[in-house]
Amino acid sequence: MQSLRSWTKSVSTLTGLVLAVAVLAMPTAAQQTRDAFVPNGVQVVETEEGVVVAVDSTGAYVFENWAEYFGSEFFTRNDMQCGQPRLPLTFDPAVLDGSTSDCSSSFTNPAGEYAPSGGEVYQIPVVWHVITANSGAGFVSDNSIFQQMDVLNEDFRALAGSLGGNGTDTNVEFFLATVDPDGNPTTGITRHTKTKWYNDSGNYWSSIGWDTNRYLNIYTNTAGGNLGYAYVPSGGGVVGQAWEGVRMYWAAVGNPGPIGHPYDLGRTTTHEVGHWLGLYHTFDGGCASASGCASNGDLICDTNPESSPMGSGSCSRVTCSSPDPTNNYMDYSDDLCMTEFTEDQSRRMRCTIANFRVDITGDPPVGNEPPTVTISSPSNGTSVDEGTALTFSGTASDAEDGSLSSSISWSSNLDGSLGSGSSVNATLGVGTHTVTASVTDSGGAGDTDTVSVTVNSVGGGGITLSGNIYKQQGRIYVDLTWGGANGGNVEIFRDGSTLTTTANDGFYTDATGQKGHATFTYQVCETVGGACSATITVSI
Ligand SMILES: [Zn+2]
Repeated sequence: MQSLRSWTKSVSTLTGLVLAVAVLAMPTAAQQTRDAFVPNGVQVVETEEGVVVAVDSTGAYVFENWAEYFGSEFFTRNDMQCGQPRLPLTFDPAVLDGSTSDCSSSFTNPAGEYAPSGGEVYQIPVVWHVITANSGAGFVSDNSIFQQMDVLNEDFRALAGSLGGNGTDTNVEFFLATVDPDGNPTTGITRHTKTKWYNDSGNYWSSIGWDTNRYLNIYTNTAGGNLGYAYVPSGGGVVGQAWEGVRMYWAAVGNPGPIGHPYDLGRTTTHEVGHWLGLYHTFDGGCASASGCASNGDLICDTNPESSPMGSGSCSRVTCSSPDPTNNYMDYSDDLCMTEFTEDQSRRMRCTIANFRVDITGDPPVGNEPPTVTISSPSNGTSVDEGTALTFSGTASDAEDGSLSSSISWSSNLDGSLGSGSSVNATLGVGTHTVTASVTDSGGAGDTDTVSVTVNSVGGGGITLSGNIYKQQGRIYVDLTWGGANGGNVEIFRDGSTLTTTANDGFYTDATGQKGHATFTYQVCETVGGACSATITVSI
């Protein structure tokens, strides 16, 4: 396993490639926070031809492809399974705010308040940033990401029937973000093409990363020649930094991941997210970590100490005085060996959320709440006679925009637009209308409310009627004029009762005999056919 099974060339033939490495790997100021912890200054890049060039203190090596690289002694010698160095307490003293917590970078207090059983289910939004080379290398399908999200939840929730079913249910779970930092809907997956970024170089996070306080950012690229790496927040100064998050070698994402055995079951992501939630490697500190287990090694008391990272090819061994924790997600075992986080690891991760990643859980990040609109009048099912003027009123409000009542748009499926405002007047045509009030907020989200209004025909045959009310010698008269009625006679109604039947000559004067003020309604109907005019109202 330790043999160098790659083919290599002498350094002298690699001058051009190594120079390319040097250019690609030139650290920027922001990168130095990470690069400072890359062991032995290891640099690994994929050339445009798809060849992998790896440089460490012993020289430069060329691998025909990534499979050869991951099977090489270079890979194991430099512990490239995971690029997570242990952040020292001196990481950034100015912002070192975790030294007194129950899950600092030097101590774990697995108090009962952090027990996963019965605790809050922490739900963490995840955004995947898939970075491909200009050649197309590095493509990760949506489906691989869906598979990987399933593995994360199987492992962290110890779902029965899954490979992690016998582990500890951490009561932490993950979902693809549904709202982006601007409040817009998202699939939780972004895609970018730039060879430099694909080789894990350049400040790509500052261009494409999302608020690290609110999202778990997972980038897929070459991960600098590691299967993955992440930042432990427990030393302080990590959360909220643009560069933090998880990097994954693209082919190790999914179940099965295209990388193939032994890293194809999605456990690298589980391992890196373990770091992201405050866990260290089970082999940290070696056998000596058995004493003072809360403040030595991995700072966890229910993981046995082990002398060195577990290698590939077996799922069990003993390097200290007890079986190595090779089934733990935080060792370097083959994916199929990994089956658990322990109870104390679960408590440390939940402590990390409670103390360091306080804004990461709960509902999706603050986005655009949709508005609501409600029609207050007329009521649903209102029925009126033809010609009746209706007033439509409603209210609308929005969490971000406040009242939107004045911008309600009104329409009828039969008559089209009826205008806009908190209240509009309209006389609808005959038929059953669906009247819709709709609003759209400044974020583009909308809401509607509808009422059904029926307008009944009362003027069949097209009979028109008008009236003129006036006084003569103190008594009230009404001159009625109509047209369009068939037949020799018409029946005239006043206030709903028959007033008279008279010749259909288009004119009739109602001598009411009343004095003072009065209001009357009139309607004219055919005595043959039964068609009627609309009702009119006159007042004096
Ligand atoms: Zn690791």
